[in-house]
Amino acid sequence: MEIEKVKCLIIGSGPAGYTAAIYAARANMAPVLYQGTQPGGQLTTTNEVENFPGYPDGVTGPEMMIQLQKQAERFDTDVRDGWVTKVDFSGDVHKVWVNGEKEIHCDTVIISTGASAKYLGLESEQKYLELGGGVSACAVCDGFFYRNQETIIVGAGDSACEEAHYLSKLCKKVTMLVRRDEFRASKIMAERVKNTENIEILYNTETVEVLGDGVGVTGARVINNQTKEEFDIPATGFFVAIGHKPNTDIFKPYLDMDETGYIKNVPGRALTNVEGVFVCGDAADHVYRQAVTAAGTGCMAALDAERYLAAKETMVTV
Ligand code: NDP
Repeated sequence: MEIEKVKCLIIGSGPAGYTAAIYAARANMAPVLYQGTQPGGQLTTTNEVENFPGYPDGVTGPEMMIQLQKQAERFDTDVRDGWVTKVDFSGDVHKVWVNGEKEIHCDTVIISTGASAKYLGLESEQKYLELGGGVSACAVCDGFFYRNQETIIVGAGDSACEEAHYLSKLCKKVTMLVRRDEFRASKIMAERVKNTENIEILYNTETVEVLGDGVGVTGARVINNQTKEEFDIPATGFFVAIGHKPNTDIFKPYLDMDETGYIKNVPGRALTNVEGVFVCGDAADHVYRQAVTAAGTGCMAALDAERYLAAKETMVTV
């Protein structure tokens, strides 16, 4: 198969990737952007975005991502469907393989692969997740299926609160399992959950097993980690909202990362330890993880890539 040459390859289609694309395209870098398996990224699983500047009335996550894609395409970003399966950053030219076959040689690579939802890792949880039978990490995507039913949500961060509140509007009852005796979420988000009538919060409570009938979820066996009392909660939907893992495994052999897999960037820049490879968005950010910070670092990555190319071209022509 013919090897394609690309000046600027962007991996990932969240706010970081599309912002990098807008800047790279306007700087004549002819960016090619691979969308990955979740075009639009994590925001496509968010309902209302109220904190992105410029949307005084809020905007839905999917709508915002459509607009970002359109803006990137307006400046001729080549947005493609495809999944980057392998990279080789050992040489001068950075090699990237798409869908396990197509090989691309890139002058610059911008990584904006984001992060993915974490699960508890229980066998029963994975079983019903794979069966599509009632385990989900996205209330906004799947909550609809549990209208007027009882659901469980695990987690105590802002995501869990947001999702619990979303579910409470659809479901008869939502039971929230909080493993400590307090929330991690911001006060306002936690208060909203506490003040919602059909959300029951169980503190110091962990999941022992997701219960099911072989086809779908029927509830969860939980334990109070203080009293050691075990009991069952009936539910048809089991939602997990316990944080995220950066999607950076394929870059591990080449890029410096922290123990969780967040790519290390030069502080205040989008540079990685490999020249010509840049990172932006949640793939490198375990602190802020916001759409607006992702977009900001996407801009930085494109500007850093442009400067890198300009410096390289000057060296060649001198
Ligand atoms: P967080 O890491 O903030 O919270 C994860 C939660 O899951 C914690 O309460 C943690 O418990 C719990 N948890 C982790 N592992 C387990 C486990 N094995 N069993 C049970 N519970 C577990 O992740 P979020 O996804 O909630 O938020 C990520 C970032 O995004 C945060 O900075 C947040 O502020 C931001 N965010 C902002 C929103 C907004 O402002 N609208 C909406 C959503 C997210 P423990 O507390 O005990 O560690």
